[in-house]
Amino acid sequence: MDTCWRTLNKNVFLVSRDGSRPLLYAPLQGIAMEVNAAFVQRFERALQGDADSANALGMEAAGIEKFIQTPPNARHLLDPQWPQTFEPASATIFLTHKCTLRCSYCYCHGGEGADMPWPIFERAVRFTLDNARRQKRDLRLSFHGGDPGACWPYFQQCIAFIEQACGEAGVKPVLSIGTNGFYADAQAEYLAKHIDNATVSIDGSPEVHDLCRATAAGQPSLERTLRTVQAFEANRVPYSVRMTVTAQSLPRLAESVDFICRHTRTPAIRAEPLYARGRATASALGVPDPAQFVAGFRQASAVARQHGRLLTYSGARITGVFSSFCAYPAPTFGVTPEGNLTCCYEVLHPGDPLRDPFFYGHVPADGSGICVDETRVAAIRAGARQRREACAHCFCVFACAGDCAAKTMDEPLEGSETPGRCQITRALVHDMLRAALEGDNPLQPPPAAAANTRSDASCPCEECAQPDPALPPHPHPPRGSAP
Ligand code: SF4
Ligand code: SF4
Ligand code: SF4
Repeated sequence: MDTCWRTLNKNVFLVSRDGSRPLLYAPLQGIAMEVNAAFVQRFERALQGDADSANALGMEAAGIEKFIQTPPNARHLLDPQWPQTFEPASATIFLTHKCTLRCSYCYCHGGEGADMPWPIFERAVRFTLDNARRQKRDLRLSFHGGDPGACWPYFQQCIAFIEQACGEAGVKPVLSIGTNGFYADAQAEYLAKHIDNATVSIDGSPEVHDLCRATAAGQPSLERTLRTVQAFEANRVPYSVRMTVTAQSLPRLAESVDFICRHTRTPAIRAEPLYARGRATASALGVPDPAQFVAGFRQASAVARQHGRLLTYSGARITGVFSSFCAYPAPTFGVTPEGNLTCCYEVLHPGDPLRDPFFYGHVPADGSGICVDETRVAAIRAGARQRREACAHCFCVFACAGDCAAKTMDEPLEGSETPGRCQITRALVHDMLRAALEGDNPLQPPPAAAANTRSDASCPCEECAQPDPALPPHPHPPRGSAP
């Protein structure tokens, strides 16, 4: 059941499952259509300039040209003009390495390390807030970890500071959190009142979730996490769920999705196969077999749809053109607890073997400035471009755009490919194209999901949930002292 494809032109592909019922796919034009062998033959001749073949297809030569051109808006996306100065109005604060859980697959050794010192936190927020005020934009801050639940009083102090500083500057704060959801009821209520959107990690039923996502004391965590989700729902906080799928949990994926749909009102669930990094490398957990993951995903996706929800996988997206898998070449303004600037949500520890490709500056311990290494930034952007260009042979090049950079740097590639992940991405993109042709509107998700669909987050794939800063804020009482 392999996905097959052939490149007809650098922007046009012929895609099928095992060679049957091929689709002509022009991703930049947003065109997919089922074609037969005669059509393909004529189309290929027309691409070579044969006007008779174009006419036989009912097209002018100019019509064929349109298939292969890169439209101006796509050109703009694929060849972005980067700003000359580093003035982000959004930031991701990795406030702590501490964590209330000890997930056996944690990529970032959650629970091992310290909090961000206040001067670093304050500088990161003031810098971003100044940019937001000058640019007349909202201040978008997301918290990620570790988990803020492990440094709760400090986290509240940080939120109070942000709200007051924004009030004084007349800037609206839009706060999000990627979290394990393991909070006491009062903490969950606090979050619901101060946070605008969230992504919560839930792996499925208690047998599945609690196996990998236990507390530091080895106790189950799901019950508390579900209570947090209920607090979000009661306060109308938009949130979505993020699942990590291991080889062991894969056979129960559909059942797990059913559990999540029955116990939460999340509109969207993201299921990602385990990637063996951090603690996962030392655990007995296995990475799912790609073909089995695809089969399990299909079943689980049907279950989600029956509940009116959407199941997604990070690399499978057909509704836009992406120049990179995530926003890391921007570069994402992520500040680690030590004050390093990172553009990757997975690379946080100073000893991480991938620190050199992803760290691009620092905030000194006394918070005296933001130091950006422009050479590093240029190298990060160039690397992202090379990564996409190395995938020019693949019909997912404008969707997956070279996959997660951290994972492609972390494992041996076959050519430009991460074989298992590429297999999954291609199969699920093909599924989406087929579904679209059968009347599924990819721009219009199922009813519950439509109420709150997120665009792709900065890090679409890591084990700890990553919130989407693009989500609209939910209504909550005025904060701070905004005029
Ligand atoms: S995956 Fe997230 S919740 Fe789990 S230990 Fe790591 S940081 Fe904590
Ligand atoms: S990483 Fe793999 S699936 Fe993604 S664009 Fe490259 S070859 Fe295609
Ligand atoms: S998608 Fe990959 S490269 Fe991008 S932030 Fe996430 S882990 Fe890092």
